[in-house]
Amino acid sequence: MDKQLKAQVVFHLTGRHADGESRAVEVAGLRPALMAAYRNLESLRHDFPVIFTGASDEYVRSLTATVDTALRAVAPPGVAGEALRRRALRVEREICRRVAAGERGTLAELWDGAVQAVAPPGDAAFLKDAGKVRANFAADGEVAGCNAALPARFLRHAWTAVQKEKARVARERIDSLVIRLGDILRADYARSAAALTQPALQASFGAAHRGMFDFDAMSRLLSHSPPRGGLGERRRRRVEESLAVLRAQRFFPRAGEAAGSGTHEFEFENAGDALAAFRARLPELSRLLKALQAADLEVQGSYVEDLHDPIFAAFDERSVTAQDLEFFPDYLVCLEPGATGASGTLADALSSGVPLKVLVHADDLLEESMLGKGQFAFGSRATQLASAAMSFGDVFVLQSAASNLLQMRERVQRGLHHAGPALFSIFAAPDGGAVPGYLQAAAAMQSRAFPAFTYDPGAGADLASRFSLENNPQPERDWPVEGLEYADPDLQTVTEEVAFTFADFAVCDARCAGHFDPAPRAVWGEGMITAQEWMANPAHDPAAGVPYVLAVDEADLLCRLVVDERLMRAALRCREAWHRLQELGGIHDSRAERMLARERAAWEEAHRHVAATAQDAPAAASGPATAAPMAAAVPPPVVEAEPARNPDEPYIETVRCSTCNECTQINPRMFAYNDNKQAYIADLKAGTYRQLVEAAESCQVSVIHPGKPWDPGEPGLDELVERAKPFM
Ligand code: SF4
Repeated sequence: MDKQLKAQVVFHLTGRHADGESRAVEVAGLRPALMAAYRNLESLRHDFPVIFTGASDEYVRSLTATVDTALRAVAPPGVAGEALRRRALRVEREICRRVAAGERGTLAELWDGAVQAVAPPGDAAFLKDAGKVRANFAADGEVAGCNAALPARFLRHAWTAVQKEKARVARERIDSLVIRLGDILRADYARSAAALTQPALQASFGAAHRGMFDFDAMSRLLSHSPPRGGLGERRRRRVEESLAVLRAQRFFPRAGEAAGSGTHEFEFENAGDALAAFRARLPELSRLLKALQAADLEVQGSYVEDLHDPIFAAFDERSVTAQDLEFFPDYLVCLEPGATGASGTLADALSSGVPLKVLVHADDLLEESMLGKGQFAFGSRATQLASAAMSFGDVFVLQSAASNLLQMRERVQRGLHHAGPALFSIFAAPDGGAVPGYLQAAAAMQSRAFPAFTYDPGAGADLASRFSLENNPQPERDWPVEGLEYADPDLQTVTEEVAFTFADFAVCDARCAGHFDPAPRAVWGEGMITAQEWMANPAHDPAAGVPYVLAVDEADLLCRLVVDERLMRAALRCREAWHRLQELGGIHDSRAERMLARERAAWEEAHRHVAATAQDAPAAASGPATAAPMAAAVPPPVVEAEPARNPDEPYIETVRCSTCNECTQINPRMFAYNDNKQAYIADLKAGTYRQLVEAAESCQVSVIHPGKPWDPGEPGLDELVERAKPFM
């Protein structure tokens, strides 16, 4: 073993350098090689900053999308609009810079400030163009960057938009009932003796006409008329009671009234307080619910005393169902990192069925656990809570990095509409790190340290419908892989496929610098293998391969970082956690794969058996009866033998089909199931050769054989024929 490799092995095993010197300071200035392209993030257009519009439907938009929409409206296409576009993008970049520096404000405010800062003095055309774009913004609202404050701001805005819409619907219903119940009472009063007295009749006429009538005579005349029906005493009391409850309710603000002014608050600092408030308000809630239902019946004239009186008499807090609660505001709890409640109490609250919408903000995935150095927790409190919440069955769970929140906006809204508890577990790094918050969050998701997923109990009855591995890059792989281009020692461009692993994510955090040992190009040797290769087959003999990740310095010079064993073990744990999520998402499902292997083995065994029986048959027929093989005594399994095939003709080995739906989803007319629910080619001409090849590539048991193309005019045939070769 050469000296360099020996030093690398020692570091890998011990986390210490042979010379006793630490390289932590050197490593702290590095970043993963795949992140080199994002060094100047503000100059790149991406999802952030975002604008909270306050609208119920599109409550959040990216700044770039907003500027693009405005530009489409005002900038002429082609060269004519180029100057305007350039100016608008210059202002947009300045807003990004300001937001990254911590400035807050609405889009209009930030736009105006940015225009002042970047417009060349006296450039009237610049100001005019910027004004045109501003006038065409589809929405305005607070602008937010991807920083530590984002999870709470995002959820609060989304929740407010949902509650605003709920309040609008509720107010419409309540106000309409109040008016119609009032009409019932007014009509009843108009028929009463009190309404026919002289002062009441006089008051009901306008002052201009009062002198024209004798109200005494009118009162006498009307009072002698026979009674004309009217409300019975019980009904009037019911209507008055319902009306009083509807008017006094404190769950929804009146039109034009701000939330909180006389109405209940629904945002709490912890789940315990939210639960206590829910319980305390439950009697009031059930009274309002009862009043709403009774009022509906009254205005429709459908209240039947014999039927409804006993039902409403028994209606109390215990009668309130989860569906009833959908009508009412939900309780929001935003737990900042380290806040109390992200533990057993919170799990209890989520399992209570109360419509709590809880945000758990994870901000440290690399915190060292109590087990000692190198044992990372992967934001375990948040992820464990998410797993526990999924096990309750009726809790909506969403986990995501902050950088992915815009992409998840509809899912967030779905969780807030969910009739029951919802947990939002979001990772956003603390502000002030060496790497921008957006990149840290994106790296956490990319490296599987904090993968995104949702569990939506309302999406269907089974796990396949409920669980989704949202937006994770290349979800079928252990680690996503990207091409990295760099110059080799001869200054030739080299492109290498590089995986982004948990160890790469750790490079972003200065606290982990001690787990890496920089190896400049001069000492790169055969004994070094990528972290991905090491994890594919963790070596028992460290000399067989020392794992490294690629990093770049401030000048984008490439180096390898040898990774110590502790961090590599943490990466393995991270991968195991990702495998568990993959299984939940139906990717590399170990049970399904085991079943497939069993079925394949059984099929091969059956085929062997048929072949052996066919070979032995003549001998058995001519030999003595006692010499008949045992196998002949047992009837072989009935296996439909596939006919001999012409390899140029497409076909499916139907008996081996595992009914995975892949091909039938690609083209349900080309592929169909037989009575046995196994696929065959129903109509070759109903699709293209491309679809046939894609189906062959998707087929989990490789039983689709595409043969040769039948339409020589189909585009891209050369490439497709190449792709079809492995399945011939
Ligand atoms: S893709 Fe393969 S296994 Fe799946 S249904 Fe089609 S033929 Fe059967």
